Amino acid sequence: MKSVDEPRLREIVGEKNIKSDPSDLYIYGSDSSVHHAMPWVIVKPDTTLQVQQIMEYANQALIPVTPRGGGSGMCGQTVPIQGGIILDMKGMNRILEINMPDVYCRVEPGVVDDDLNMALKPYGVFYPPTPASSRIATIGGEIANNASGVRSVKYGATRDAVLGMKVVMPDGSLVNLGARTRVEASGYQLHKLMVGSEGTLGIVVEATLSFVPIPEFRCMGIANFDSLQDAGEAIGSIMGSGAIPSMLELVDSIAIKAVNKTMNLGLKEVAAALIFEADGMVKEAVDYEINKMKRICERHHGKDLHSSYDPKERAKIFLGRKKLFPALSKYDDNLSSTSLADDMAVPYSKMAEMAEKIHEVAKKKQYYHDGLRPLRVGLHAHQNTDGHKTCRPMAVRQKSHY
Ligand SMILES: Cc1cc2nc3c(=O)[nH]c(=O)nc-3n(C[C@H](O)[C@H](O)[C@H](O)COP(=O)(O)OP(=O)(O)OC[C@H]3O[C@@H](n4cnc5c(N)ncnc54)[C@H](O)[C@@H]3O)c2cc1C
Repeated sequence: MKSVDEPRLREIVGEKNIKSDPSDLYIYGSDSSVHHAMPWVIVKPDTTLQVQQIMEYANQALIPVTPRGGGSGMCGQTVPIQGGIILDMKGMNRILEINMPDVYCRVEPGVVDDDLNMALKPYGVFYPPTPASSRIATIGGEIANNASGVRSVKYGATRDAVLGMKVVMPDGSLVNLGARTRVEASGYQLHKLMVGSEGTLGIVVEATLSFVPIPEFRCMGIANFDSLQDAGEAIGSIMGSGAIPSMLELVDSIAIKAVNKTMNLGLKEVAAALIFEADGMVKEAVDYEINKMKRICERHHGKDLHSSYDPKERAKIFLGRKKLFPALSKYDDNLSSTSLADDMAVPYSKMAEMAEKIHEVAKKKQYYHDGLRPLRVGLHAHQNTDGHKTCRPMAVRQKSHY
């Protein structure tokens, strides 16, 4: 193992921003996946200049650097498989500018998603990509993962909200990519290349993001189905009809049982349910969208159709969706849960087929999964707590609208 020049790093970031205690190294060796590897040292910069100096040093000494935000990635992206330096970006967490006339904000990469949205709320706007991990996920991590959330079906993923950024390159140089305007046609769209680069191309030290108005009205609907096939086909019909859902999630019987058990949601335990939402500034327009989606669900044998503008009811269901991953650990007291997430892409018209296939695989391999969502599908596996690895972890995630 190569050694790191800790005194040099201490000179750059100061004593308190360096950690090499074995317990810290162990903790920073994991994210929300099953993977683990020990870094050699953890360095927490406060400024762009410090990031530049660290990268310059690491580049010269040929030491691997892994940037890290909240450590909530599901696929081991921030696990330092070759050791080296973990660059903990949480210290750079300032919101630098909220510019209403030009409709952008500038933030440092360590800003937590929920904190950004709290700061934007008084202006009547929100930053929409927001994954379910928004309480801890940072903007830098979301950019590197091209994260998305339940409302991405209408508002897009992170890549749609990123206008520009400042990036420290591996040799320590600083580059400015993109712009502060929505339309910018000259040159390569290099800021888009950074989105989804998982920390492999450079360190994001500042991001310019767009935002959208908070809608006046939000209505959430639910339809129950006796077959996954029907629910899957309803998704294709909704998307193909020109309806504009602001959320469209398919949950299956296992996911329903898990969230009912954990959060007492009282959802009817059926083969599948579609949760859909419409939002907008005019109630009649929202009614129109919701009714359209309800009618399509009915055509596909959806039943117990229900919709509500009540924020409390919506918040309860929304929380169930947010806590789906952890809820699975309570699905069966004799099992423990772990996950290995990955992405797959399926057209809307193939949703039903994919849903059935996932169930087939799950049954054959004794996997349990976290429900099937039109935008992301998680197939979670559980291991028996008696230590017999009767089922191996596996997961698939789908982002069919990109
Ligand atoms: C409970 C839960 C629910 C989730 N729900 C969703 C969901 O609904 N939709 C979805 O898309 N994802 C979801 N995720 C995963 C989501 O993509 C991550 O939570 C988020 O993007 C990572 O943010 P982070 O700050 O924790 O980044 P980390 O996990 O710390 O890092 C993620 C990647 O970003 C890189 N990175 C971090 N900071 C920088 C930087 N400044 N410059 C360059 N690279 C950097 C890292 O090296 C790594 O490759 C969920 C995760 C959890 C645990």
